[in-house]
Amino acid sequence: MPLHMIENVTIPSDFNLPNRLTLEQKAQDDALFEQAKELIKQKNALLIAHYYTSPTMQRLCEETGGSIGDSLEMARIGRDSDKDLIVVAGVRFMGETAKILSPNKTVIMPNLKAECSLDLCCNIDDLKKAKQDHPDATVVAYANTSAEVKAQADWIVTSSLAVELGKYLTTQGKPILWVPDRHLGSYIANNSNCDIYCWPGRCIVHDAFEANALSFVKKEHPHAKVLVHPEAPKAVVDMADYVGSTSQILAFAKKDPANEFIIATERNIFYKLSLACPDKKFIEAPVASTKGHCISCANCPWMELNTLKALIEALNNVDEHSVHVDETIAKAATVPLDRMLKFSADLKSGKIVLE
Ligand code: SF4
Repeated sequence: MPLHMIENVTIPSDFNLPNRLTLEQKAQDDALFEQAKELIKQKNALLIAHYYTSPTMQRLCEETGGSIGDSLEMARIGRDSDKDLIVVAGVRFMGETAKILSPNKTVIMPNLKAECSLDLCCNIDDLKKAKQDHPDATVVAYANTSAEVKAQADWIVTSSLAVELGKYLTTQGKPILWVPDRHLGSYIANNSNCDIYCWPGRCIVHDAFEANALSFVKKEHPHAKVLVHPEAPKAVVDMADYVGSTSQILAFAKKDPANEFIIATERNIFYKLSLACPDKKFIEAPVASTKGHCISCANCPWMELNTLKALIEALNNVDEHSVHVDETIAKAATVPLDRMLKFSADLKSGKIVLE
């Protein structure tokens, strides 16, 4: 279906990535596990972590009664909990989404500077201009955007619902202005009938998966199924046995009879995959490198800012680590968020049926 790439928007050439932790720093951080666990209990906090945080952070979540999920699941869990202090281990837009759904709770983050390249690719002024250029389009924003961008959208969507929403909006006969991920935009266009004006943003982690190298890994593991996140380039998506969000990849690996899988998403998902399927083998999909150096090595540098040390610091200094979202922006962003939650519920209940 027609995919029109939007031009003349500001995409950072260098995302100013944070320094990576050394093995020694990781070991020192892991040693804080019991202290962090005790503090969460003492403060009566709920820890919710993304699948891409470190295995130690995910284990801490499990051992303190918290939950691991994707951004929307995290926000929903925070909202539905009876706890008033929510710790979001993830990146900034996840903390903002949790705060939008729980305006009366205190939402803190271990590191408020944990960014996401997709979020950084979507400048609010460029979006306002694109809306003026395409006044008939329905604005659909990926969950990986700032609260300010969400407030400008008609719909918010997660990767697990993106194609379904594309199909649904096609029935309304209106084009979509999609922000900010170029690969997910192209995936929606290729799998629904929608006409898309697509933002040229990218996730530095998923954008690095490389099709040619993947073909060699496939030859080495001829029985392995390839599971790919739709933020990966089209050439990689085209080689997949299954394309889905992180939660969907996890669910697929659990139920599929295959014993070997090549995984093209952030590598900390291997923690949950191995726990859920201890008898199955998971292989990392290869990433491209520049001058022998990979940008992320399939490991999000901003997610890595969620150390236990930072979490302890946040719990001891709640005010400094609190997430704030302007009330007017939060109110406006709630509209497309609620729309997506209702759409998701209607799909599950069969109220909306798509071809
Ligand atoms: S993995 Fe990609 S999409 Fe996820 S937080 Fe990191 S940069 Fe953003």
